[in-house]
Amino acid sequence: SMVPDYLDAVLQGVRSDTSGERAQYIPELATADPDLLSAAFATVDGEIYGSGDVDVEFTIQSISKPFVYALALADRGFDAVHAKVGVEPSGEAFNEISLEPGSGRPRNPMINAGAITVHSLAGRDRESADDRVARVVRGLSAFANRPLHVDADMCASEMEHAHRNLAIAHMLRSQDVLVEDPTAIVEGYVRQCSVLVTTRDLAVMAATLANAGVNPLSGDQVIPAPVVRQVLTVMATCGMYDAAGDWATQVGIPAKSGVAGGLIGALPGQIGIATFSPRLDAHGNSARGVSLFERYSNDMGLHVMEVP
Ligand code: GLU
Repeated sequence: SMVPDYLDAVLQGVRSDTSGERAQYIPELATADPDLLSAAFATVDGEIYGSGDVDVEFTIQSISKPFVYALALADRGFDAVHAKVGVEPSGEAFNEISLEPGSGRPRNPMINAGAITVHSLAGRDRESADDRVARVVRGLSAFANRPLHVDADMCASEMEHAHRNLAIAHMLRSQDVLVEDPTAIVEGYVRQCSVLVTTRDLAVMAATLANAGVNPLSGDQVIPAPVVRQVLTVMATCGMYDAAGDWATQVGIPAKSGVAGGLIGALPGQIGIATFSPRLDAHGNSARGVSLFERYSNDMGLHVMEVP
């Protein structure tokens, strides 16, 4: 197969780009090795190709958001989730403190206000905070086809500086969007964000979305196909924060980024792609990750609006 050579060549092409900065607001992320670089492809037939540091673990951060949205939709149903979290792109930064006027709901599940609410909807109604986190970690593991774990140090590091997410959660509690203790929900959300993954894991997770919810390695239906359609649509419209429009035109693949430097894209019926590089651009997306995806999309004609 030509794929490994291609992946190596494209990775080499972006290696000299040291633009951007590691996320500074979580101390554990600010000290990550900035030169790590990797990419992995996982096809819906279960082939995996990788290049660079594909087996280095890092925290999933916001890339957990679409997957936990999927779990909440599967666990609670569309109506219950939609009553609490909308699907309108906000065009705002990930940590914007804003709610939809009128309804008081977070605008979408990809900004923190929406993701914190979605975390509270995973699992059964009135689940304990610990059981909910266990449900989330089990669910993420099913997407990855490997038992995943929470990085306790990263979690503690983020909780010490979680004032903004706590403010968001208290505002949601004041609107009765959240109905439990806001601190416990933020703790659960931060544990969700601190799940350790590799680039290879993320490619398999993305491939499960690309494969209508069936993990291409295990063959298990992790979530129902209608849920996948919902999740990919929200990724396409809201996955890249305030760079969603640039991404949609330049890359055109439903995607999600995280502040640790991970980035995933899922192309329905074809492939899951993941990249990892810790330096972030001004929008908070991995700088070299965005370049890699631009290359892949152009070289292989992956833009969803393009006729193959
Ligand atoms: N845990 C991070 C936060 O809530 C995730 C942000 C991200 O990855 O964009 O601030």
